[in-house]
Amino acid sequence: MNSAGTSTRTPGATPAWSSWYLTMPKLAVGLLVVLLVALLWLLQDNEKEEQRATLIADVLWLEQSFRFHLENNAEQLQQLALDLGREDRPEKLFDTRTRHLIRTNPELVQVAWLDNDGVTREALPSHISPRRGATGERDRSEDGFELARKLGKPVFSRTYVSQDEAFFELYVPLYRGNQLAGMLVATHALNNLVSQMVPWWFVEKYRLQIIDDDGKVLSSKSKLDPGPASLSHQVLLDPPGYGLALHATANRVATSTAQNLIMTLIILLAGAVFWSLWAIRGLMRHRLAAEQALRTEHAFRKAMEDSLTVGMRARDRRGRITYVNPAFCELTGYDASELIDAQPPYPYWDPALLERTRELHDRVLDGLAPAEGFEIRGRRKDGSYFDALVYEAPLIDADGKHTGWMGSVLDITERKRAEELARQHQEKLQATSRLVAMGEMASTLAHELNQPLAAISSYNAGCLNRLESGNYQPDELRGVLEKLGVQAQRAGRIIRRVHDFVRKREPKLAECDLAEVVDDAIGFIEHLAQQRGVRIERELPGWRPPLLADQVMIEQVLLNLMRNAIEAMGETPPERRRLTVRVTQNEREVEVRVIDNGSGIADAVMERLFTPFFSTKEDGMGMGLNICRSIIEFHKGRLWVEANPLGGSVFVFTLPFSP
Ligand code: ADP
Repeated sequence: MNSAGTSTRTPGATPAWSSWYLTMPKLAVGLLVVLLVALLWLLQDNEKEEQRATLIADVLWLEQSFRFHLENNAEQLQQLALDLGREDRPEKLFDTRTRHLIRTNPELVQVAWLDNDGVTREALPSHISPRRGATGERDRSEDGFELARKLGKPVFSRTYVSQDEAFFELYVPLYRGNQLAGMLVATHALNNLVSQMVPWWFVEKYRLQIIDDDGKVLSSKSKLDPGPASLSHQVLLDPPGYGLALHATANRVATSTAQNLIMTLIILLAGAVFWSLWAIRGLMRHRLAAEQALRTEHAFRKAMEDSLTVGMRARDRRGRITYVNPAFCELTGYDASELIDAQPPYPYWDPALLERTRELHDRVLDGLAPAEGFEIRGRRKDGSYFDALVYEAPLIDADGKHTGWMGSVLDITERKRAEELARQHQEKLQATSRLVAMGEMASTLAHELNQPLAAISSYNAGCLNRLESGNYQPDELRGVLEKLGVQAQRAGRIIRRVHDFVRKREPKLAECDLAEVVDDAIGFIEHLAQQRGVRIERELPGWRPPLLADQVMIEQVLLNLMRNAIEAMGETPPERRRLTVRVTQNEREVEVRVIDNGSGIADAVMERLFTPFFSTKEDGMGMGLNICRSIIEFHKGRLWVEANPLGGSVFVFTLPFSP
């Protein structure tokens, strides 16, 4: 609930930040994903570079190993050739040294000793000769042989393939003195060389191939199948040369599962973030729309509250004021800030009525406020007073919880003032009407007063006579004077009653005896009845019902009704002119009937009977019945008229018993 002083934002203004609010995180997340992907790519690239460098280093190392090994072979054979050229060489030298050589170098499939013409002198093992033709003679055009002879130093031959296997030879010339005396030929099997030279770890990482200058694979060693786009490197293998090359291809490295997992997670996370942003966008739109609707609703409600002329005031269940509207502030003369949070007694309570107001307040908080509302009197800030009619209703919040009370407060100061004026006016009218009634009954009063005055006068004359004659007893005189006093008191009582009747005064409820009221009224009217030849009958029960009423007012009602009844019987035959005052009772109230045998009341008259200034009489004022009804209603009774079945009318009024 908003206080009257709270300011409101302009309705309809959708904040511009809201679209930024959504775009910024989207941009940031997009950028983050791009950066992460770039980072991963860079890492992978780095790794590849590293792999390539390692590959090159490994291949170079292998090439070097091959070279060292073959050069070492050449050296050993050179030494053998040197030793074979000596005159004093031991027997079986070739056999011993070659056996050793072949044992330690499995790639050597054969070592042969040829003479100058190329004919084999000795060979180990002797049973194989990969190159030998069907003739068993060596092909003289073999490039290595001739080249070695010409150069006079070891020479490697081209590789050749025999029985699906690649071989190459090493030719080492043999000199005796300075004379070329033959040639040592060591046949190398490429496959054996490869399997001996390439270590296991190399094969784990790479596939190794030896290719010739045409790109034909002569030998290969591998464990796994490299992928199509794998890294590879190639170096020339010299010796033996002739375009022979080592070609290594990196095996397909199983891509790191961690890397894959991270990548997948990043993509999934980015997707989730985008999705949640999308959801938030929907949610925000929904919220903005709701806020907008709320602002419109609030503005509408505020306009409505401000235009209300009825004061509104909300209190929590402990009586603290939580809300007031402008009309309430105007009624009490206090600002909202002075009233909000106020606890009882509130500043606008009338200090003279604190007790009663607090009692009402407590009843409201206990939920006992009358549904038809209640009136309070308050004091404004400027000291003036106001009257208000308050309706209280429980305040229920959105969860259905009872949080306090909302009161609508109606300013009825003016209405009260008008009512007070009307009441005073009515009172004046009543007094006037009583004066008029007395005036009309002046002859009755004169008659009534006449009796005691005549008696006083005759008692007085009797006393004087006795005094003058001198023949008197003091006791006798005392008796006469006492009677005279009684008559004077009786006259005084009549005068006082008249005075009471016409005196202008506030209505006063008191214990009252209905029989006495009826008798008094009959006493006043009796003389008029006698003049008009009307008999008055009273039918009263023997008990005295407990009534709380203003005696003079009820007397006025009775007098009015009885006088109307007497006047209505002007045309009635004299023997039927009878007026009856009958009092009956039920459990809640007494009923008083004034019954006549008069003219009765015509329908046209009936409708307007109780309206002010309605009269069918020439000298009638037309206020009698109207005053009678307001007096009876003041006493919480009812007044109505019925037709008398025997002719004439019956005026009935009721008076409730005093509680
Ligand atoms: P007023 O007596 O001055 O005319 P009332 O208000 O007392 O004013 O009466 C209004 C009218 O009601 C009378 O003029 C009369 O016509 C009618 N009325 C009152 N009482 C009776 C009655 N008992 N019988 C017939 N008419 C009556």
